[in-house]
Amino acid sequence: MTESRRDFALSLEFFPPKTPEGAQKLTAVRDQLYGLQPEFCSVTYGAGGSTQSGTLQTVRAILAEGQQGAPHFSCIGASRESIRAQLAEFREAGIRRIVALRGDLPSGFGAGALGEFRYASDLVRFIREETGRHFAIEVGAYPEMHPQSRSPRADLLAFATKVEAGADSAITQMFFNPDAYFRFVDEAQALGVGIPIVPGIMPITNSSGILRFADTCGTEVPRWMRLRLESFGDDTASIKAFGLDVITALCERLLSQGAPGLHFYTMNQSAAVLELCRRLGR
Ligand code: FAD
Repeated sequence: MTESRRDFALSLEFFPPKTPEGAQKLTAVRDQLYGLQPEFCSVTYGAGGSTQSGTLQTVRAILAEGQQGAPHFSCIGASRESIRAQLAEFREAGIRRIVALRGDLPSGFGAGALGEFRYASDLVRFIREETGRHFAIEVGAYPEMHPQSRSPRADLLAFATKVEAGADSAITQMFFNPDAYFRFVDEAQALGVGIPIVPGIMPITNSSGILRFADTCGTEVPRWMRLRLESFGDDTASIKAFGLDVITALCERLLSQGAPGLHFYTMNQSAAVLELCRRLGR
């Protein structure tokens, strides 16, 4: 007898490993996660000092494993020529999907280092001009506003511009407040945005890391969650158990109220995502 799987679009995000041991471990993690039948697996770029070659190497491994691999690709500090060359390399590697981002300048770089692309919308437009419909293009979305934006409205309009430039689908920054997501989706749709806006889901497996990361990306951690996480101290078993309950409930609500799928920030770990998906009936 085959069990029926809950059907929702699922994608997974990894970061390029820094060492041969990390690469070996990630291969095993991917192998475990492929059983979930992801639509695609994306690989970050730049964050934590990763290079585009590290990203491409990991995407090539994913493609060789018979899965769809999507490099994250940021444009800040880049020239048209360098982006053109990178797109050609992606094409040759057999890549059909890109997560197109502005990215952030490493600290110490002044505004003069911005390059020829100011916003992700410039990159999306350029990819379409240069390569037509060859690549499916994902972009980032910020239900709780991008931290550098002037206002939620300005950020929403910037998002709509990015979509008009040719994005096919969007992945959100991590969030724990589903109301922020649904409001953002409603407001985007009211502006005529018709592409899927897929929630980016961060499993909770520790407390200090997640609280720190949430602060950097402007994600609200509801007071009740923060207090509980802090109260567990070093008790990782309780943190993980709480994290699984909270994130399962978040995903359930998102899917039952119409989210088009889920994108998991795996942090190169399989256990939490496997358990979350098991609980979600995937
Ligand atoms: P944009 O959409 O260009 O927005 C950046 C800022 O500019 C926003 O404040 C926006 O409101 C504003 N803006 C945009 N267009 C206009 C306009 N026309 N006029 C005025 N203001 C405008 N970072 C990495 O370094 N590597 C990664 O791999 C990575 N992966 C990510 C994956 C996802 C799903 C997400 C959501 C983010 C990721 N990031 C990554 C972080 C991202 O690079 C940063 O959040 C970055 O600061 C913004 O990138 P963006 O593509 O959203 O930029």
